[in-house]
Amino acid sequence: MKISEIEEEYTSGVYAKKPLEIVRGVGTKVWDSQGREYIDCTGGIGVASVGHSNGYVAQAITQQANRLLTCPDAHFYNDKRAKLLEKLSEISPGDLKRSFLCNSGTEAVEAAIKFARGHTGKPKIVAAMRGFHGRTLGALSATWKSTYREPFRPLVPGFKHLPYGELEELEREIKDGDTAAVLLEPIQGESGVHLPPPDYLKGARELCDRHEALLIMDEIQTGFGRTGRMFACEHWDIVPDILCVAKALGGGLPIGAAIMREEIKLNRGLHGSTFGGNPLAASAALATIEYVQKNDLPGKAEERGGYFLGRLKEFEPRDIVREARGLGLMLALQLKRKSGPYLNSLMEKGVLALPAGGTVIRFLPPLEITREEIDQAVEALDSVLS
Ligand code: PLP
Repeated sequence: MKISEIEEEYTSGVYAKKPLEIVRGVGTKVWDSQGREYIDCTGGIGVASVGHSNGYVAQAITQQANRLLTCPDAHFYNDKRAKLLEKLSEISPGDLKRSFLCNSGTEAVEAAIKFARGHTGKPKIVAAMRGFHGRTLGALSATWKSTYREPFRPLVPGFKHLPYGELEELEREIKDGDTAAVLLEPIQGESGVHLPPPDYLKGARELCDRHEALLIMDEIQTGFGRTGRMFACEHWDIVPDILCVAKALGGGLPIGAAIMREEIKLNRGLHGSTFGGNPLAASAALATIEYVQKNDLPGKAEERGGYFLGRLKEFEPRDIVREARGLGLMLALQLKRKSGPYLNSLMEKGVLALPAGGTVIRFLPPLEITREEIDQAVEALDSVLS
């Protein structure tokens, strides 16, 4: 049986996959089981920011695998975890200092929701229409898309969704003082790469301060250099109370974190995770952050993303194209039709990209993608859009 046939036979069946068996990756490239090469503009849905099989990260993982794989955060201290916690505090904006370590994006959001409710003693969580925060029941309650939510009702009570970018409605909703937190993506990724209006995030920060609600920024997709800054909230000069991260943090290994201000606390025993903060994931994350810093990946994302966006803008005059947009290397080309068939044609031409919001082709490549590779991707796009 082929790899794809085995997966289809034995997997849960919740995913609709492309007919592509990926078996190897280096930097911006991946190879299929037939040895065919692809430029990976999916970056593993924004995970492979440091590139596939990054040598520096792989070495850290190998060394740690031979030293200590597991050490429960609940019971013991560990050298790699300590270093990672210190590092996260060092690179996080403003006074964000303490982290709860977990294993995925949705868990980082779950932790943020629990810390926000537990710390404030308030029930309400205000999220945004078009927002995506994960698939477990708490995070799903903050996620907007009805097809993801409806089959699983009743969801967690106390969640409200408001239009992204609307400050007046936000104030109306939170001024009763019942809101534990406002939960927002700095750029909405999954729903199509939507940037906020210029004053929105700053305004949301001020409203949260005025009405004593916490501001949670979901930087699970935007974090660690993707948008041209270490964290996207730096573009708007704001510091959230809780910052949710995952995806690129582990360089490919599963890890997430909710990073928060010192005074936000839960009593001991009120949250936890067996695998969270394990030494293997911690060493991968530490190496990933070091690599991002040493090689100025935010700067590269800004420079190469600017070039890539400029090339995508060249498609705007075409009838089929609505808009090219994005920040750094979080980019979208919105079409006037469903993007699925174009993604398949791109794949046939050796370029992998992602859907988002139905009509969008989304690009989240490794941050060291070269101009030549961007040109190759744009050339493939040119031929599939013609
Ligand atoms: N939040 C955002 C902004 C995301 O983009 C994602 C995943 O795409 C998540 C949360 C959920 O992360 P995970 O799939 O690791 O649970």
